[in-house]
Amino acid sequence: MASTTAPASLHDVVSCLSDYDPNAVPVAQAQHIIRQFITPISSIEKVAIRQALGRVLATDIVSGINVPAHDNSAMDGYALRGSDLSPDQAITLKIKGTAYAGRAFEGEVHPGECVRIMTGAVMPVSCDTVIPQEFTLNTDTEQVTIPAGKVKTGDNRRFKGEDLAIGKTALTKGKMLRPADLGLLASLGVAEVPVQRRLRVAFFSTGDELRSLGETLDEGCVYDSNRYTLHGMLTRLGCDIVDMGVIKDDPVSLAAAFRSAAENTDAVITSGGVSVGAADYTKQMMAQLGDVAFWTIGMRPGRPMAFGKIQSAGKSAYLFGLPGNPVAVMVTFYFFARNALLHMMGANIPELPLVPAVSLASLRKRPGRTEYQRGIASVSPSGQLQVAITGSQGSGILRSMSEANCMVVLHHDQGNVDAGGKVDILLFEGLL
Ligand code: AMP
Ligand code: MG
Repeated sequence: MASTTAPASLHDVVSCLSDYDPNAVPVAQAQHIIRQFITPISSIEKVAIRQALGRVLATDIVSGINVPAHDNSAMDGYALRGSDLSPDQAITLKIKGTAYAGRAFEGEVHPGECVRIMTGAVMPVSCDTVIPQEFTLNTDTEQVTIPAGKVKTGDNRRFKGEDLAIGKTALTKGKMLRPADLGLLASLGVAEVPVQRRLRVAFFSTGDELRSLGETLDEGCVYDSNRYTLHGMLTRLGCDIVDMGVIKDDPVSLAAAFRSAAENTDAVITSGGVSVGAADYTKQMMAQLGDVAFWTIGMRPGRPMAFGKIQSAGKSAYLFGLPGNPVAVMVTFYFFARNALLHMMGANIPELPLVPAVSLASLRKRPGRTEYQRGIASVSPSGQLQVAITGSQGSGILRSMSEANCMVVLHHDQGNVDAGGKVDILLFEGLL
């Protein structure tokens, strides 16, 4: 399942950059190169709207109807002619009938008359205002009294098309559909929508020391945790995932795994084996199979990373060779792979907002690299957003990530932060 051909080789992309040094790549430059090199897939399928949650809309959706279809009441009360209202005295109107949601009042309403109306009912012809039930006085079946000053002309009336107007774009191509969008599509009477096919992403872990769950943990070995965090992160992103397991640090197994990924998926994400470590064959294999750059990125955690495209049997997949340390995997995934995968999916998503928070502790930070510390954000009694760091920040300490609810982003040029100073944070989870 090859992706569409990239417009240029990695060499072409980096040759446009005057200050490119693979051994010292600032975060922003790595993000820029990745973005230049990646092309979106374009393969569309139609799905029922319930299945469209989290999928990327493949075309604009133009409203075929007005929502609401008619002017209607926003309240239970009485529909009246605004010209009957008097600014300084109560008026009494004759009740002509009742308008229900789904059953309109068909008669005429003359001056001095009104119609009992329910929320959502179509406004009777010549009525433009609704007085809520609770403001009325002396109501019987024949007439109702409306005190002065409770409503003015046009109050409590919803306009035809005020939510979605016929012929206007209701949802834009590239939108990743959320619960409100499913409801919005339903309100338009749309049962199916064209979405981009799911991105197919393979991942595997490399390292002779790794054991899979269920295996005994031999001396000096660790359980493979990266495959599980990657499983979670890719699933949340809506990818179709292919878990290729643990691949030993041996050239034959690695080459076979890369070939299979290139032939069957859009992207492959590996962890481990991209550092300078002598036993790591991954680098060598990656280089043999395609157009791959090896970077030392000006960041912490996560310095080593490989990026490019691997080929086999005329097919190709983008490659993200992430570092092995568990926190570094997550940080490099979120700050490099996530955006790239979203771009490949055709998703048009605004940058996640960094928000300023007060750092509760002083933080050591060396200018010249971007640091991603794991934090717990909270709101102080005085209403200020504040952040504490989650203990030890070692790149192997996954607990720091598990306990966190945000990332503290210490920018490239930033230095030490005093306790009480402002830092930028990126919250992990929102409501939607
Ligand atoms: P590497 O990048 O291969 O040199 O690995 C760096 C560190 O991360 C080593 O301590 C590895 O044991 C550890 N590591 C690598 N891959 C994994 C994994 N899949 N799960 C847990 N730890 C890992
Ligand atoms: Mg390794």
